[in-house]
Amino acid sequence: MNFISKDFEKLVEELSSLPGVGIKSAGRLAFHIINEPIEKSEALANAIKNAAKNVKHCKICNMITDDEVCSICKNEIRNKKIIMVVENDRDLIAYEKVGKYKGLYHVLGGAISPLLGIGPNELKIKELLKRLTQDVEEVILATNSSIEGEATATYLAKIIKPLNIKVSRIASGVPVGGDIENIDEVTLFRAYEGRVEI
Ligand code: ZN
Repeated sequence: MNFISKDFEKLVEELSSLPGVGIKSAGRLAFHIINEPIEKSEALANAIKNAAKNVKHCKICNMITDDEVCSICKNEIRNKKIIMVVENDRDLIAYEKVGKYKGLYHVLGGAISPLLGIGPNELKIKELLKRLTQDVEEVILATNSSIEGEATATYLAKIIKPLNIKVSRIASGVPVGGDIENIDEVTLFRAYEGRVEI
């Protein structure tokens, strides 16, 4: 489409670099953006810039937040004796939407994947171990049931169990290879309720 407009082409290129956005959708989005009033695209551009600049990761659990410590870690009512370990922020949000879990979380920032060159050091595992003081009674491994998620859960169980902390894994119900963020709330709640000690 380079015969039309260089700026348009650049916009399509940037949009198509986003995950899940193919060149066709990028084109559709770009046409939508340029046909909107300029205020709309300025608001969008500002929102992107501000989020990229200002959103931090909680220094305790690694969840995205506007402050140093997120609202879940700050919440006095949450049960500080249980930590649920998830792969990413989206999984945490999925569990929070169900609204039944009242403990704390730890966001790993991915899963162990030798194929992608992601080892334990690339994840927030050291930070998790630092949190495992005497106050913590249970760690729930809620990583995805993909090969990477299972490998991560096995790895974590091996290093956490010797610390005399109960380690459990979310139950079946989460389909093999299924991403937690795409699972309906009932299934997710059952997976949590039916977790088994490992
Ligand atoms: Zn936090």
